[in-house]
Amino acid sequence: MKFKVLGSGAGIPSRTRNTQSFVLDVVEEINQYFLIDASEALQHRILNTTIRPSKIKHVFITHLHGDHIFGLPGFLSSRAHQGGEGVPLVVYGPPGLKEWVEMTFKVSGSHLNYPIRFVEVFHNGEYDVEGFTVKSYLLDHAVDSFMYVFIEPDKLGALDSGKLKDIGIMPGPVYREIKNSHTFRHGEETYDTADFLSPPVKGRKVAVHGDTRIIDRADYLELLDGSDLIVHEATYLEGEQEKAHQYFHSEINGVLRNLSPISYGQLLFGHISNRYDAEMIQGVEERLGDRAVLAYDYLEITIPRDSR
Ligand SMILES: [Zn+2]
Ligand SMILES: [Zn+2]
Repeated sequence: MKFKVLGSGAGIPSRTRNTQSFVLDVVEEINQYFLIDASEALQHRILNTTIRPSKIKHVFITHLHGDHIFGLPGFLSSRAHQGGEGVPLVVYGPPGLKEWVEMTFKVSGSHLNYPIRFVEVFHNGEYDVEGFTVKSYLLDHAVDSFMYVFIEPDKLGALDSGKLKDIGIMPGPVYREIKNSHTFRHGEETYDTADFLSPPVKGRKVAVHGDTRIIDRADYLELLDGSDLIVHEATYLEGEQEKAHQYFHSEINGVLRNLSPISYGQLLFGHISNRYDAEMIQGVEERLGDRAVLAYDYLEITIPRDSR
């Protein structure tokens, strides 16, 4: 599982930072990519990667500000010609997204050659997406803005061949049959498969924020607790906490303080304003040390199991 940054900037793009688009790469797990936000030039960014648009079957839009959605119609249109013909797509997002996309397609005379379905998300929503549990949580922004939390299913523990041999079952195709059933018979006895498995491997958890002020509610922190990766906005890098709050955004030191009571693996800051120059960015990176990473376009983060 990997997290890929296609756009690390806030509001307005620069030559080095596109506005916000991310990809959660679950190719190894389910041979797909989850796309989170679809900024302008998203398709051009994708062209510089190995991501195949036809393998994007689920899109998650955090909120309807232009820097998060202006690339969506273009991406949807091009996907049809990039192997996506007949490959269904589901778009999750706040109310209004469906109307906007449909109107854009209508007035521009665009047609898709694959089925598309829109799912209106809400506070504390929960969705089954290809076996993953995805939760939507309403944040605090000028418009409804959501965090998506992606929870990988736990993996069944491995079969303990030693224990099976002890009761006289030798390795063979029967092992797979045993693993796929709750109980199995051998001789006159019925056994519980669970007694012959190592403990399940915990699934990973990745939380991706839309634009937001800092939220210190208990249920929010509880939801984030134990995440392997948290992706948070950092429109304001250092200082300017009041200004960040006033404009419905966040400042990194405030975020770090807010998250300090919970445990998590990695913290990635995106949505970085383009008014910061390279020198400022470098200084902040040095002060952050290993507490968090500042995103840049094309950054790839590997999300190992049990990283927290
Ligand atoms: Zn934004
Ligand atoms: Zn916004």
